[in-house]
Amino acid sequence: MSDYLVQQLEGTPNVTVRPGSQVTGALGQHQLSGLVLTDVADGSSTTVDADALFVFIGARPHTDWLNRVVELDSNGFIVTGRDGASWLETSIPGVYAAGDIRAGSIRRVAAAVGEGSTAAMLARERLTAT
Ligand SMILES: Cc1cc2nc3c(=O)[nH]c(=O)nc-3n(C[C@H](O)[C@H](O)[C@H](O)COP(=O)(O)OP(=O)(O)OC[C@H]3O[C@@H](n4cnc5c(N)ncnc54)[C@H](O)[C@@H]3O)c2cc1C
Repeated sequence: MSDYLVQQLEGTPNVTVRPGSQVTGALGQHQLSGLVLTDVADGSSTTVDADALFVFIGARPHTDWLNRVVELDSNGFIVTGRDGASWLETSIPGVYAAGDIRAGSIRRVAAAVGEGSTAAMLARERLTAT
């Protein structure tokens, strides 16, 4: 999540941030009336009143399958540009990462598109040079 959004949420008096909580249940017959929140650390659950639920998706990279294949940061994003590699090149020479999956990316559509086209150009240059 973008830092400016985190700052705005933390500065909004009628918003409570509950880190380490999962929504594990929704209550209500014909419309939502409450949510069950489970603390991931100790497994305890609480019920809170709610008449709406917004789901924020897309924050996890889902790169488990790349673990020990290319270098990942502690959050699972692909590290690029280390040790003299070009800025989109992963820890494997000639393998590039672009867009949200890349550690430090801007996480915007325009940035992902630009990085993707740049990675394609870098790959082509590498292939024509060998
Ligand atoms: C809730 C939300 C709101 C956003 N709002 C904005 C906004 O207003 N403006 C803006 O500019 N950006 C916004 N973004 C960010 C923007 O969506 C991303 O920056 C952009 O989509 C990144 O593009 P990408 O190609 O890197 O990744 P993605 O768009 O995530 O594309 C990756 C694709 O790879 C596929 N994939 C994943 N794993 C595999 C696999 N193993 N094999 C094959 N395919 C796979 C996925 O299914 C997906 O289709 C928002 C993101 C979120 C989550």
